[in-house]
Amino acid sequence: MTVKLYDTEPYSGVFKARVLSSQPLPPADGGKGLIPLQVELDRTLFFPEEGGQLPDTGTLNGYAVTDVQISGDVIRHTVLCTGPDDFAPGTEAEGVLDWETRFSKMQNHTGEHILSGLLYRQYGYRNIGFRLSDNTVSFDTSGDLTREQILQMERDANAVVFRNVPVTAEYPDPDVLAGTDYRSKMEIDGPVRLVTIQGVDVCACCAPHVARTGEIGLIKILRAQRFKGGTRLFILCGRRALEEMQRRQTLLEEISHMTNRPQEEADDAVRFLLSEIADLRAQVRDLEYKNAFLRIESVDAQEENVFLFAGEMDAIVHRNLVNRLCEEHPGYCGVFCGSDEAGYRFIIGRGSQTLDCRIPCGALREKCGAKGGGKPEMVQGSAAAKEEVIRAVLDHC
Ligand SMILES: [Zn+2]
Repeated sequence: MTVKLYDTEPYSGVFKARVLSSQPLPPADGGKGLIPLQVELDRTLFFPEEGGQLPDTGTLNGYAVTDVQISGDVIRHTVLCTGPDDFAPGTEAEGVLDWETRFSKMQNHTGEHILSGLLYRQYGYRNIGFRLSDNTVSFDTSGDLTREQILQMERDANAVVFRNVPVTAEYPDPDVLAGTDYRSKMEIDGPVRLVTIQGVDVCACCAPHVARTGEIGLIKILRAQRFKGGTRLFILCGRRALEEMQRRQTLLEEISHMTNRPQEEADDAVRFLLSEIADLRAQVRDLEYKNAFLRIESVDAQEENVFLFAGEMDAIVHRNLVNRLCEEHPGYCGVFCGSDEAGYRFIIGRGSQTLDCRIPCGALREKCGAKGGGKPEMVQGSAAAKEEVIRAVLDHC
């Protein structure tokens, strides 16, 4: 059994313990000739992976602790060391937590309690999932939330931070527990550890938390998405919230710089660019129409089969051009858009109902490795081949 020092000393980052047992793990890529060893201590400050929260990191006797798992009352640390002799049973070990990461977890975890507590009080919603990793902090709540409700929730949660109320953890007697209304994700065997945020929330939880809500600094809801009939909220608190806001501030500065508009008008600047792109697209399409029309006029009216090769063009222009050719020529009428280097997208139609466009399409598939197909009246596809090769194939159709 391992004494959980993190239960009672959430603010300690260094501890001494004795090795109870150690066991080599299957070789993994430890690097620098180090091997992974699973070490059980008589006591530990390392919080294991539990309740959706990744384990603490740090060192034992200077060797990196890469994983911490709990099973029953036993906590096992994975340590990258030179061999079993480093942690023979009875050895004294000094553990050092990666304190910055641990404190950040305490900030984020306590922030999540405040949000979940408020959601429960205000809407009766339950927390049905939680993840705290290096990449993401998110939790799932059992009901729907509008954008305005989420913004209000964020304001209310930060008001709890501003009030700087105490956060306490204790194992109440069973009769006291029985008379206490608290949140819990599951039925718990054995003693229940209750974490109380004064006036806000009481929740069963085994993780370390900050002592007063002011230490959280900032609770930021970054994103919400519907999830299994409820809502998944992506949040960040404390230092990680600050880092994320700085990153987004940099994005805003870049947009402001690139568009030469004040940061406060970034949305207007982007809207303006999008409408300008739409206008330009319309102009390009117009030019493509005119250009295509000129191409048609240059085709000898007596030609039976007509195959035009052109650069990139809009899909609607492409189809209209084929339709137009089919009205004026009795044979196969195809338009190939692209280049010899990039290949061609093609549409082939027919000027006479006795023809079957699947015939030239089949020839292109067979001899040029083209892809595509369609109906007797029209086929479309693509061919990664040069114009002269494609023309040679079509000449025989
Ligand atoms: Zn907690």
